[in-house]
Amino acid sequence: MPKNRAEQATETYDYIVVGAGSAGCVLAARLSETGRHSVLLVEAGPEDRQLWVHVPLGYAYLFADPRINWMMESEPEPHLNGRRMYQPRGKVLGGTSSINGMVYIRGNPADFDEWKAQGCAGWGWEDVQPYFAKAEANLSFTDADISGELASAAIRAAEASGLPFNPDLNGEARPGVGAYRFNVLNGRRWSTARAYLAPARKRSNLKVVTNALVERIETSTGRASGVVYKRGDAEHRALARREIILSSGVFGSPKILEMSGIGGAQRLRAIGVEPVVDLGSVGENLQDHFYTQLMFRCTKPITINDFARSAPQKLIEGIRYLLFRSGKLASNHINVGGFAKSRPELTKPDIQFNMTSWSVAERTATGAKPHPFSGFSLSPVHINPDARGSVHIGSQDARKAPSISFNYLKSDYDVDAMIYGMRLMRTIAGQPSLRPLVAEEIKPGPSVETDEELVQFLRANGVSNLHAVGTCRMGIGEDAVVDLELRLRGLKGLRVVDASIMPRIVGGNTHAATVMIAEKASDMILRAADRGES
Ligand SMILES: Cc1cc2nc3c(=O)[nH]c(=O)nc-3n(C[C@H](O)[C@H](O)[C@H](O)COP(=O)(O)OP(=O)(O)OC[C@H]3O[C@@H](n4cnc5c(N)ncnc54)[C@H](O)[C@@H]3O)c2cc1C
Repeated sequence: MPKNRAEQATETYDYIVVGAGSAGCVLAARLSETGRHSVLLVEAGPEDRQLWVHVPLGYAYLFADPRINWMMESEPEPHLNGRRMYQPRGKVLGGTSSINGMVYIRGNPADFDEWKAQGCAGWGWEDVQPYFAKAEANLSFTDADISGELASAAIRAAEASGLPFNPDLNGEARPGVGAYRFNVLNGRRWSTARAYLAPARKRSNLKVVTNALVERIETSTGRASGVVYKRGDAEHRALARREIILSSGVFGSPKILEMSGIGGAQRLRAIGVEPVVDLGSVGENLQDHFYTQLMFRCTKPITINDFARSAPQKLIEGIRYLLFRSGKLASNHINVGGFAKSRPELTKPDIQFNMTSWSVAERTATGAKPHPFSGFSLSPVHINPDARGSVHIGSQDARKAPSISFNYLKSDYDVDAMIYGMRLMRTIAGQPSLRPLVAEEIKPGPSVETDEELVQFLRANGVSNLHAVGTCRMGIGEDAVVDLELRLRGLKGLRVVDASIMPRIVGGNTHAATVMIAEKASDMILRAADRGES
């Protein structure tokens, strides 16, 4: 008797990891490391073969590439004049670590101590620090070059504005300015697909399936038993002997949970999904950093804008990159960064800022279009926002993006912190070391001066910093989606391990903390297996 199509495709693994992003690649590598467990890694996107994934400056071309990017957007934001916020996310091996800006920042130790104080025992700084260290032994870095004229002038200007030089932005967490560190090795982006997954792929106990969209998790007798995914039109089913681990990211993980009937029962019934676990907190607690760019026309042709419009320079730099993996293409040009407090009484910085050696005239379908003159930007980012949003599915169609709302700039504090940040950027730009390189402030421009004008500018121009987290919150209360071992509340055999579990957003770019979470979770999962739990 011929088996039906679904049965033919069914295979069984110890672990199934859904999503090969920042976290998923770490899990697949660590869980398969001992050779004792079979692991299936299922990824919606393709192999990471595109040239621009690997060339550091190429990230500008990945910002809106539908082949490897989910290209979502939010609902109209009520406090941003009804604008929708574009939400790119990687849909490729490496996930968002294959398309992101490569800045490596752990976050503030106090962030993790706050997680612990909120009930997340085992997640304080002393607990997580060893996992950052473990990850860093595996990830690779390049330190930003701050010797250039613009970067060194910006550093001196920040120092003159009262922000002391910090030789290690991942070390002492205090207001200051310094050089960023990037996930770049020998001139190549070092995503978790390169750092973790690539070396693990030769293992016979690890199977990686790409171009496979997971539609739902199946359950039987109170536990997650398998996943259903589509490759093209063909439906496949894989079963998990031990655990399924959702690492589909801040939008993908809650979406798959809700598609599987795990979420607020009333909300699910309204769209025709039969509830399996009534967990109203799924998709809530969405948090993000918010930022804007102050752009300056530069007096000297020393910016990426100049490089971008010079065909001979592009040719020279292209050859240099091909021959030596160095030069302009080998950097993201986000060299200078730092932290500040918008109010002196704060116990930790709430503003991060970046200096980028370009200014953007417009964003097009193929990336960012720089101004046709020399320019650079100073960008304040609010890293400790009040705003809370949500992500929920609106239909049973797995190909449809979920509905995302952030509520940026809803609270007075969120607005005030950004006003402080913008004024700080102007103070830095006005210092004697940087002033000679500033021909004029293009954006917002000198006519935007009072607090009211700055707020108007922010509501019309501020954007997501693309660091969304928190939608499958870890915790001990009723508002938690997963417990302190990242196991789903109310169903056995299922964990969520990615940026979505953060109870509160960290004060820095979110990739590093996500990798730490995956390292720590891998240890938890393997220890549970050693104890005979499944
Ligand atoms: C443009 C951009 C720039 C950024 N720059 C920086 C930076 O410089 N530094 C930094 O620290 N952070 C940066 N971030 C944020 C950071 O990259 C993310 O926080 C981090 O990568 C999130 O990791 P994750 O594992 O949670 O999710 P992801 O890395 O997004 O992984 C989720 C994976 O799951 C897959 N998936 C989703 N749904 C399904 C499904 N149904 N079936 C199968 N697979 C599925 C996705 O395709 C993806 O591969 C940036 C983000 C963006 C968008």
